[in-house]
Amino acid sequence: MTKWSIGKIKEIKYWTNNLFSIILKAKVNNFFAGQFTKLALKINNKKIQRAYSYINSPENKNYEFYISNINKGNLTPYLYKLKINDKIMIAKNALGNFTINNVKSCKNLWMLSTGTGIGPYLSILQDNICFRKFKQIILVHSIRYIEDFNYLNLVKKIKQKYYNQLIIKIILTKKININNSILYGYIPNLIKNGTLEKDIGIKIHTNNSHVMLCGNPNMIKQTQKFLEQYRNFSKNLINKKGNITYEQYW
Ligand SMILES: Cc1cc2nc3c(=O)[nH]c(=O)nc-3n(C[C@H](O)[C@H](O)[C@H](O)COP(=O)(O)OP(=O)(O)OC[C@H]3O[C@@H](n4cnc5c(N)ncnc54)[C@H](O)[C@@H]3O)c2cc1C
Repeated sequence: MTKWSIGKIKEIKYWTNNLFSIILKAKVNNFFAGQFTKLALKINNKKIQRAYSYINSPENKNYEFYISNINKGNLTPYLYKLKINDKIMIAKNALGNFTINNVKSCKNLWMLSTGTGIGPYLSILQDNICFRKFKQIILVHSIRYIEDFNYLNLVKKIKQKYYNQLIIKIILTKKININNSILYGYIPNLIKNGTLEKDIGIKIHTNNSHVMLCGNPNMIKQTQKFLEQYRNFSKNLINKKGNITYEQYW
């Protein structure tokens, strides 16, 4: 049974019409970077709860969540309308194995994300441990428009600290801006046709890489299928180490 804590909204950031972040204060137990918790509201006398990844580092007690406001969704339109000081239920204990504790140390850690699926990586990247465990971290973020990269400043700040150790690659699904450093298309296709690896100059190879996947289930399934079929990758399980770790958002 989930144990709940009552939190208070401290800040809301409205990035675009459908992307926002909430920061709340609550008494919850410690979590590992990459884990998620549950947020809930009473709507028409019914408790509606959903899973959300912590995006703050585990030491930071301002609990932050990056959320996509789903049209006609059961919870997100209500989260979007919350105001400062409103109450919100948050599960006391974090959940999930989408953490680097479960990943064997290797040279290259690939963090592939779509949309709000960048969330757990923001927590992992702010936790610093990952920079001791992996020589090179490659954050690949797929969004529709460049304006949707709402945590670009935060990621750039982390890059300033770790410089060459962090590579940031933006992939836009809508071709609008002409910018040589941006790729266009879908993550699985750009891996299949070699564009992503060529652009970054690093091969996704079982000898030296672990691939994390977060967000859209189609991106995850297609990327995983390709890496398993053509590159000999396997799922990372608690009792059987592999080199693909993923978190599907729906
Ligand atoms: C482990 C885990 C962690 C998650 N972390 C996050 C997070 O940090 N941020 C976040 O925005 N969502 C996250 N989600 C998704 C979240 O739990 C909800 O499903 C989502 O917010 C929709 O809730 P809703 O009640 O408004 O929509 P519902 O009425 O439940 O409708 C669900 C439908 O919305 C669509 N959908 C769900 N999530 C997304 C999304 N992120 N982007 C686009 N379409 C989506 C799918 O079509 C899905 O079938 C996570 C899910 C899981 C399983």
